[in-house]
Amino acid sequence: MIYLDNAATTPVEKEINDIITYYNCEQFYNPSALYGKASDVRKEIDNVREKISNFVGVGINGKVIFTSGATEANNLAIFGSILPRNKKYLFGISEHPAVYNCAQELKNKGNQVEFISLSTNGEINYDDLKSKMDSDVCFVSIMMINNETGACNDINKIAHIIKSVNANTILHVDAVQGFCKYPINMLNSKIDLLTISAHKINGPKGIGALIISPKIKIKNINFGGGQENGLRSGTENISGIMALGKICKLIDINKIKILKQCFIDQLESIKKYIKINGEGSPYILSISIPGLRGETLVHMMEQKNIIIGTGSACSSSKISNRTLENMGKTKEDILGSVRISFNKLNTVQEVEYAGKEFAIQVLKLKQMYERK
Ligand code: PLP
Repeated sequence: MIYLDNAATTPVEKEINDIITYYNCEQFYNPSALYGKASDVRKEIDNVREKISNFVGVGINGKVIFTSGATEANNLAIFGSILPRNKKYLFGISEHPAVYNCAQELKNKGNQVEFISLSTNGEINYDDLKSKMDSDVCFVSIMMINNETGACNDINKIAHIIKSVNANTILHVDAVQGFCKYPINMLNSKIDLLTISAHKINGPKGIGALIISPKIKIKNINFGGGQENGLRSGTENISGIMALGKICKLIDINKIKILKQCFIDQLESIKKYIKINGEGSPYILSISIPGLRGETLVHMMEQKNIIIGTGSACSSSKISNRTLENMGKTKEDILGSVRISFNKLNTVQEVEYAGKEFAIQVLKLKQMYERK
């Protein structure tokens, strides 16, 4: 089987799985306990914390709060931030539901919430951000890389627009699709809160973190035993934290660029039928084939033992697509869209084979529709 839906999730590497097993079966102690073995585990957790905070450029004064994944980290960032009353929130319109639905909840509770539109390439519309940014805006959340199109937002530019109007506005970045794929320096980029998750980069599901820049204070949104500095109660997922620590390093992006290009090179025979939606990250290739159903293509590819996705895994059951719609894509483009996403474990040979098979299946479907 060839797996090309890596923006949805990725396989855990054997080496990482060994670490998970070790910390589940051998070093399994509750880090809050008083005996030596437990405090050894606590030290190991704190080493991972330090490694991650250095990796994203906040150093020892930054805080890393381990969570059950990005969804929880986003909720903590948005609902845990200490903000003045009756102020405005801004969100990117193409945010993952783990942010977008928090924005809707804020709105339902009577807060002033506005969304920033997209440019046709899928990036945030920086002019729209400029026009909506004023001194009343207290919190902005914009993702680093879009999970459906791979569009890369210019976080430095976004931070500049925001902070030059109000230096106190909190900037939260959901970096799930960018962590370990691109260098991140929160202090240089003026990012106050950063969300990461392990399962998009060959780590396990159920572990992520919210990283908090030194001058920012947040409050807890769950209540319990007071772990994670009181900000996220619940016994720590030790094996997940150790796995996250192990995978926390920059992946060679050149290999991924080669994989994406290799897939695109196989599409010559269907060039006139396809549109590539946004050309940002090499990890994600979003293609529309107007007139076809993306879903049908996904099933046809699966019969050939090749797994690709339709948009994001979370929204695959819905016909409408916030991201593609806001890029100005037509209903036909949206219905005929698929997402192919790559991982360092993919090989050139399998991507070449999958690209060739993709072109064959598209031609087959086109002929079937034409005969109707
Ligand atoms: N944010 C983005 C950009 C994502 O792509 C995802 C997962 O698809 C999430 C958040 C949610 O991550 P998790 O599954 O760790 O809660």
